[in-house]
Amino acid sequence: MFKIFEKKNQARTGIVTTKNGEIKTPFFMPDATRGFVKFLNNEDIARTGIVPMVVNTYHLFLSPGMEIVKKAGGIHKFMNYDKPLLSDSGGYQVFSLIHKSPKMGKITDNEVVFRSPTSGEKHIITPEKSIQIQFDLGVDMMVCFDDPPPNNYSKARIAAAVERTIFWAERCLVEYEKQIKKRKITAGNRPLIFAVVQGGEYVDLRQRCVEGLIEVGKKVGRDWDGFGFGARHVNEKGVFLEEILRATASFIPEKALRFALGVGTPEDIVRCYLMGWDMFDCVIPTREGRHGRIFLRIRGQQPLPSPPQPLSNSPLSKGERERHGAGGFYETINMNNGKFAEDFSKIDAQCDCDLCRNHTRAYVHHLFKSRDPLGMRLAAIHNLRFYVELMEELKTL
Ligand SMILES: [Zn+2]
Repeated sequence: MFKIFEKKNQARTGIVTTKNGEIKTPFFMPDATRGFVKFLNNEDIARTGIVPMVVNTYHLFLSPGMEIVKKAGGIHKFMNYDKPLLSDSGGYQVFSLIHKSPKMGKITDNEVVFRSPTSGEKHIITPEKSIQIQFDLGVDMMVCFDDPPPNNYSKARIAAAVERTIFWAERCLVEYEKQIKKRKITAGNRPLIFAVVQGGEYVDLRQRCVEGLIEVGKKVGRDWDGFGFGARHVNEKGVFLEEILRATASFIPEKALRFALGVGTPEDIVRCYLMGWDMFDCVIPTREGRHGRIFLRIRGQQPLPSPPQPLSNSPLSKGERERHGAGGFYETINMNNGKFAEDFSKIDAQCDCDLCRNHTRAYVHHLFKSRDPLGMRLAAIHNLRFYVELMEELKTL
């Protein structure tokens, strides 16, 4: 249930209603892959202003396992998180595992058989099973099990993955309807369901995938609540797939949510937002924070994608890139750098996060030098706050 407030060119702001509350778009979700964001508790998350988070079906299925999650009363109760959660289908993880090492499993049109990389135990996952697991998790938003080939596969193989993705989306949607009936879930309490658009770096395949998915919705009698962008949003060289993302957004019906899975850096999020994408998730703010990399807004600079090149393809010198980021509206600093040892200034005097309100750069540098998890936790909190503030600024563009 998505309502658009305002549209400027392709970008739009709106509100999504889920069974665990409303979310204003555009929004960013940190990855709580295994049911937690490393080092952060729910109170830390809440103070950053983050509302929804992403959990991963594949990882939770392997550990702690669905019996434990069910006994806890679902993923919200297990995590003690009362705000919206989205579960990724696990398709990307299972396929990556097998693409990297074919002895880890086998993919057929019917199912995927894979071995747990930790226990070696054999598991079978089907589109139906992925949906059942996501219902057992009790999430607010779920994603279809799809076939995500690496972007460097041949066009023929990517086209085959598109057809399989459409075929599996139908099985997912049929199972979704079955579970709604079986569990007697009312209209206001149903999780939102997202299809995933594959097609690699080919506009015609992306279009075919969206059209096929819309047909599936008509056939089953349920419109998709949203569409996700499947596979990587950058090519092998790390160059942002501008044309593909723009075209894919334009194929997706306006009333549906557009989810740019795994996007990304601040400048890529800004680019996607301006094309009409509404929701984003990425490990970057938390992972980079744990490594000591802090995102800083250059105050007074609007978050516009200028220059348009991504980091790896930017005309800026390395030093300039580090100082300005790729979008010109932020920079990153690395707290491991010895130059901060005697810098008693705030990280960002205008930021209201736990880190910036309470500590100096010198102290945070000392925490990283001492390898204390407190520094990693505070840096992740600051970076999430940076992403939340970016989302707020996008709403005013
Ligand atoms: Zn801060």
